[in-house]
Amino acid sequence: MIKAEGIYKRFGDLDVLNGIDIEIASSEIVSITGPSGAGKSTLLQILGSLEKPTKGKVYLNDIEISALSKSKLAQTRNEEIGFIFQFHHLLPEFNALENVCIPAFIGKKAKKRTEERAMGLLKRLGLSDRALHKPNELSGGEQQRVAVARALINDPKVIFADEPSGNLDSENALQLHELFIDLRNEFGKSFVIVTHNTELASMSDRQLQMKDGLLLS
Ligand code: ADP
Ligand code: MG
Repeated sequence: MIKAEGIYKRFGDLDVLNGIDIEIASSEIVSITGPSGAGKSTLLQILGSLEKPTKGKVYLNDIEISALSKSKLAQTRNEEIGFIFQFHHLLPEFNALENVCIPAFIGKKAKKRTEERAMGLLKRLGLSDRALHKPNELSGGEQQRVAVARALINDPKVIFADEPSGNLDSENALQLHELFIDLRNEFGKSFVIVTHNTELASMSDRQLQMKDGLLLS
């Protein structure tokens, strides 16, 4: 589903990724662990088309996304790819429901249908009664679940999560990772999850380790 071949990334004279080959199957949950500075976030950004590799190719369902034009790339990212970050990156002046709807509105989806879908997702994530609250009125776990709903609103094929539980206590972190597994089981999404926590990483289908810009085998 996602395939990357011979990925190199250099920032100035710093070699951050040194030849990465990776394939993620449909409905697969893959975790990536490794020391700080190993290049995990850079790899995730390249797989998610937020960043271009210096060398190498990234395919999403056989389409080479690393070669798409800027506008086509933005459209593909909006429709096919979801992101969850360590800090929720919710917009503070909008409530939970509005935050979840934003990627759909960017994709020019109809307002009413989008809001219904967003409410359905919030309900699924146990947040029905939090929908009209702003991020600063939500707990850390709730904020991160709103971010999950936002990542799901456009029904993407794959979700990239960069240390999504890095800012949560252990109970909420475990719940979040269990939620990823449930969502894969229910909706068949693929997840690529970077985490420092080896226990949480071990819940995935496949564990990858990174060091010095390479995947360890
Ligand atoms: P990790 O997520 O594993 O901690 P990163 O991918 O964030 O690692 O970073 C790997 C290396 O690349 C680090 O040395 C970091 O400073 C460097 N780096 C990341 N992004 C940039 C950038 N935009 N410009 C310059 N250097 C960067
Ligand atoms: Mg990182």
